[in-house]
Amino acid sequence: MLQSLALLLFPHRCLSCKEFVEHSRSFCALCSLSWSTSLKVRKVDGVPFFYSCTYNSVTSRVILKAKEENNARARITLAQLIAQAINNPYSLLIPIPSRPSANRTRGYRHATLLAGAAVSVMKGNRNQVIDCLQVTGSTRDQAGLNAHERRENLHHKFTADSRQLANLGMREIFIVDDLVTSGASAREAIRALLAVDVRVNGVISACAALPH
Ligand SMILES: [Zn+2]
Repeated sequence: MLQSLALLLFPHRCLSCKEFVEHSRSFCALCSLSWSTSLKVRKVDGVPFFYSCTYNSVTSRVILKAKEENNARARITLAQLIAQAINNPYSLLIPIPSRPSANRTRGYRHATLLAGAAVSVMKGNRNQVIDCLQVTGSTRDQAGLNAHERRENLHHKFTADSRQLANLGMREIFIVDDLVTSGASAREAIRALLAVDVRVNGVISACAALPH
């Protein structure tokens, strides 16, 4: 009775197509077919790269909802995919940075919030998110660029704040993001961290649109 009242007052919609769904579900039956929770592993520059979903119209809508609309349900749904790649709940997560102009426009740091959500799924502590990477120098929006242009656009554009990376001990460190396309951001993050002697254990993205 209470549940049906809640459904009436606060209808729950599919994160992709907005059809009404039960409160326990994120997607309608049709959209859930495009949402995968099985973990896949590849390599980016010799570093293990974990992801669950391939990029499609459903995953794209969820990412946009989290990234551009600051939608908490969309964010936690992506965070669950990230968290399932992490075995050690004390692992440290380093978010891939957005351009400062994008952060200003949005009013929040999307990947940092996503990493925080993944830590809360892991029942960890907020200080496991090490927000040490930033974009320096001028870059264009990666959307619309091909793989080569993306690499050029980001070449030596990330810097890592080594002060935030001191005394981390032997904890596992993962770079996290919502979507890996060409892998240019992931490669640049790996490079920027290696430049301050930090070797990551892996890159984890909720979704990937890598070439086969
Ligand atoms: Zn749907």
